[in-house]
Amino acid sequence: MTYDPTNIFGKILRGELPAHKVYEDDTALVMMDIFPQSRGHALVIPKAASRNLLDADPAALAAVIPLVQRVAKAAKTATGADGVRVAQFNEAAAGQTVFHLHFHIIPVYDGIALGTHAGGGRADDAELIALAKDIAAAL
Ligand code: 5GP
Repeated sequence: MTYDPTNIFGKILRGELPAHKVYEDDTALVMMDIFPQSRGHALVIPKAASRNLLDADPAALAAVIPLVQRVAKAAKTATGADGVRVAQFNEAAAGQTVFHLHFHIIPVYDGIALGTHAGGGRADDAELIALAKDIAAAL
């Protein structure tokens, strides 16, 4: 399977579609998931083109993992979550729905079940804007 640049995250990275951005540098973009599994669900997206972990350049992976850690810590702090799940899916059979590599940062709250992966409702824009700001401030 080859990388298809018309995927939705490719469009967001090129500025063709909007996003609730948390952080951006030369190598990665962090944004809120608009169909979150929990309050504060964010996505860390390396800018280097790959479908997923399987075809990614190891150097790009090495560069992004420290950012995954930073965002996981910031999301937990900013939301007051009790834990944080980091998830990443490779190909449709494994649950992947957008075919540009990304890492899910999903705050987890005691006693609150996570929503469905890629199947929940769209979050309120004002809430996503506020969460993006709070997570950015905790980075
Ligand atoms: P995957 O299934 O590929 O691991 O995850 C894709 C994620 O992207 C899902 O959690 C889904 O909610 C999210 N998503 C789908 N479309 C959009 C979009 O247009 N904007 C944002 N911010 N997230 C999206």
